[in-house]
Amino acid sequence: ATATEPYDVVVIGGGPGGYVAAIKAAQLGLRTACVEKRGSLGGTCLNVGCIPSKAMLNNSHIYHQTQHDLKRRGIDVSGVSLNLPTMLEAKDNAVTGLTKGIEFLFKQNKVDYIKGAASFVSPTKVSVELLDGGKTEVETKNFVIATGSEVTPFPGGAIPIDETQIVSSTGALELQKVPEKLVVIGGGIIGLEMGSVWSRLGAEVTVVEFLGAIGGAGIDEEVAKQFQRLLTKQGIKFKLNTKVLSAEKKDGKVFLKAEAAKGGKEESLEADVVLVAIGRRPYVEGLNIEAVGVELDNKGRIIIDDQFNTSVKNIKCIGDVTFGPMLAHKAEEEGIAAAEFLKTGHGHVNYNAIPSVVYTHPEVSWVGKTEQELKAAGVEYSVGKFNFSANSRAKTNLDTDGFVKIIAEKETDKILGVHIIGPNAGEMIAEGVLAIEYGASSEDIARTSHAHPTLSEAFKEAAMAAFSKPIHM
Ligand code: FAD
Ligand code: NAD
Repeated sequence: ATATEPYDVVVIGGGPGGYVAAIKAAQLGLRTACVEKRGSLGGTCLNVGCIPSKAMLNNSHIYHQTQHDLKRRGIDVSGVSLNLPTMLEAKDNAVTGLTKGIEFLFKQNKVDYIKGAASFVSPTKVSVELLDGGKTEVETKNFVIATGSEVTPFPGGAIPIDETQIVSSTGALELQKVPEKLVVIGGGIIGLEMGSVWSRLGAEVTVVEFLGAIGGAGIDEEVAKQFQRLLTKQGIKFKLNTKVLSAEKKDGKVFLKAEAAKGGKEESLEADVVLVAIGRRPYVEGLNIEAVGVELDNKGRIIIDDQFNTSVKNIKCIGDVTFGPMLAHKAEEEGIAAAEFLKTGHGHVNYNAIPSVVYTHPEVSWVGKTEQELKAAGVEYSVGKFNFSANSRAKTNLDTDGFVKIIAEKETDKILGVHIIGPNAGEMIAEGVLAIEYGASSEDIARTSHAHPTLSEAFKEAAMAAFSKPIHM
């Protein structure tokens, strides 16, 4: 192929969905380009999402632990202080290192990286407004749209984001000073992760959540309750069943009006900084999809079939901009499957085996069905639960909050759901994902040797509890 011939595939968007699709397509021998307008690869996740938030979560945890948890471990330290500029710099270095790494992977796999904003001209052509100035047109046999998502603004424009005093997650990763009072609107994953960061660094944090529980969609009720108890113990305040109505900036502060979700007396809240974390929505701005007739649903998501085809032949779509959970690893799985469909006509994503993780301390993770979902579907199940307080490693680590809960189908013992709150839950859930992927029973896990002393023995014992009885509890 020469440079003037059309590409086999052009991926629009270089986030976890798009960059993975592009690399996979190139690995499969397709002539591939990826158009990205941000100026750096990795999308929301690497630039303003997963990666910077985890850098801040990790380092704020170390700071907090150094201040509040070392004494009982026999470590005396004094003069601990926060150097916020350096903490922010460490976060930025993690981001730069990883986004540059993807550029390297593009070169290695011969993916052409086109820096600019793509806009459809026809089903086989986009015009690209180049970041370096000027315009070009790019032709291809196939497109993969992977343009991701953006912050959902507050309804009716009632609380406009300025990214300094009223921030989205992006601004919350850049605060130059620890706010005295931080009010978080939304007790979903972003609210709890970013609320934890600033609470550990010294802010007085209040989370206002519309629903009666925290943790967002898909969390198990029992886990959500325990989660709230533990975060409350860490100093975070919660106002559940409460709806924020408006915000007003005055004298360097923000004054919020809120009321009970079902209506009632208004109350006011005062904050130095407000984080709006009420969800994200699909992003197609500037893409000119109207020009090619790609259809959206009523939530603005690009409609696809089970092979990632949009309503337009030869245009596929993956990641946050279409259906399913807005998670980086879900977008990556779809990126691989979409590339495989292009090359071979086959590909697969098991949506029942996509894990969710909240990277607080303790971490929270889950995969598969909750008890509530199974009850609603009329499925009979057994539950095996094991507390970390009975796990030897958690005890030696002085880190015993939480439990592993395994839900298995009553009739077949097949594992249907795993819910963990506790140390290292984010790593441990991989075993649950594998179990579901391979259709394991709780007896399979219970009879599998787990190294001693490890936290993952709690996983085995929860499986033993689901199938018969645990040994250590
Ligand atoms: P995106 O990552 O949004 O990438 C889309 C890219 O397309 C963007 O870079 C954009 O610039 C580009 N683009 C858009 N339109 C055009 C155009 N017309 N031309 C060229 N380029 C275009 N998920 C997890 O799994 N784990 C986490 O820990 C986690 N933490 C998060 C923390 C925060 C604070 C946030 C906000 C999100 C987090 N997420 C996490 C979610 C995760 O970031 C997304 O699910 C993921 O990035 C989606 O990938 P994507 O490729 O679909 O889209
Ligand atoms: P979310 O949907 O998880 O939570 C938003 C919360 O805000 C919900 O609980 C909702 O009830 C509440 N809410 C909505 N309107 C409200 C109002 N007016 N007043 C009070 N509460 C209100 O959304 P998010 O936390 O913004 O996260 C966005 C996306 O980013 C999610 O899809 C999530 O999967 C992804 N993400 C993932 C991770 C991770 O995997 N660790 C981390 C961060 C973000």
